[in-house]
Amino acid sequence: MARFIAGAICPACGLVDKLFIERNTEGENIRNCVACGFSDSQPDARKVQNPWQSVRISANLSEKPAKGSC
Ligand SMILES: [Zn+2]
Repeated sequence: MARFIAGAICPACGLVDKLFIERNTEGENIRNCVACGFSDSQPDARKVQNPWQSVRISANLSEKPAKGSC
């Protein structure tokens, strides 16, 4: 099964709507580019979102008065 990623830009050739996701035998989602043949697993996709969430959380915590500083 393969599905194209709407609006996705290929990091290799820079073309839009050329990337599609295909699941390999290991169950991982692999990005493939039909234009240049670029392929890459994207296990980092979830990791990319986590830093943003952690940043928001840390930002909220920083606004609160610190307790247990010692
Ligand atoms: Zn490409």
